[in-house]
Amino acid sequence: MIDIVQQAKDLFSLTITPEQHNALQQYANLLLEWNSHTNLTAITDPNEMAVRHFLDSMSLVTVSPFRDGSNVIDVGTGAGFPGLPLAILFPQVHVTLMDSTGKKINFLEHVIKTLGLKNTRTLKARAEEAGQISHYRAHYDLVVARAVARLPILLEYLLPLARIGGLCVAMKGSTAQQEAADSQKALKELRGVLKVIQPVQLPTLDYLHYLVIVEKTGKTPAKYPRSPGTPTKHPLV
Ligand code: SAM
Repeated sequence: MIDIVQQAKDLFSLTITPEQHNALQQYANLLLEWNSHTNLTAITDPNEMAVRHFLDSMSLVTVSPFRDGSNVIDVGTGAGFPGLPLAILFPQVHVTLMDSTGKKINFLEHVIKTLGLKNTRTLKARAEEAGQISHYRAHYDLVVARAVARLPILLEYLLPLARIGGLCVAMKGSTAQQEAADSQKALKELRGVLKVIQPVQLPTLDYLHYLVIVEKTGKTPAKYPRSPGTPTKHPLV
């Protein structure tokens, strides 16, 4: 059985308090409970959940110091990964969980309420819409996403939301390098610079994950993000 507290310490020098461990467990239990009637995740084995959902989400601590008061948004969060474990572990960070699907948002609202998370809010929206709303645009210190779209498309979702000097992190599998190579035009158009592609080795997995880290270096032109569906139909490649 994976000891998530020990692994978080060994892998990411992250200390999880007993209260936080309890909250993570409650979240996992709620996910399994809801998953029996609402399709939220294909990963239901406890060890697999520990590694592929929870430890994978925590790998982001290697990127950002998660300073008190900073603003983080998880775009296409689904059942809350990676944003919700981070919200539990960093109560002083303001976390927004965005998804376009109502049933995912309903689940997340239930978890936030049950756990009493004061630093976490949901946003039911498409990234293409949120990026054009002044309250969200250029607002975030850290914009993260896992398993949402190929990088040239994803960057159009993420970069408009980041403040200048902020970071966007795409959590990717083996296609990370190729997707980054295909993103030259998107980076230039949207005003981002690829900083590094950081490998992550998680226990029990015989393949690497990658954190594609992009810094926002200038103001994204007002025409981006384009209307819902356009980034997918006409990616910036
Ligand atoms: N990030 C989660 C994870 O890794 O477990 C969920 C990944 S799931 C495959 C992709 C999620 O992104 C879905 O919940 C979907 O509703 C959401 N999504 C896809 N395109 C989106 C968009 N343009 N704006 C907001 N959410 C989007």
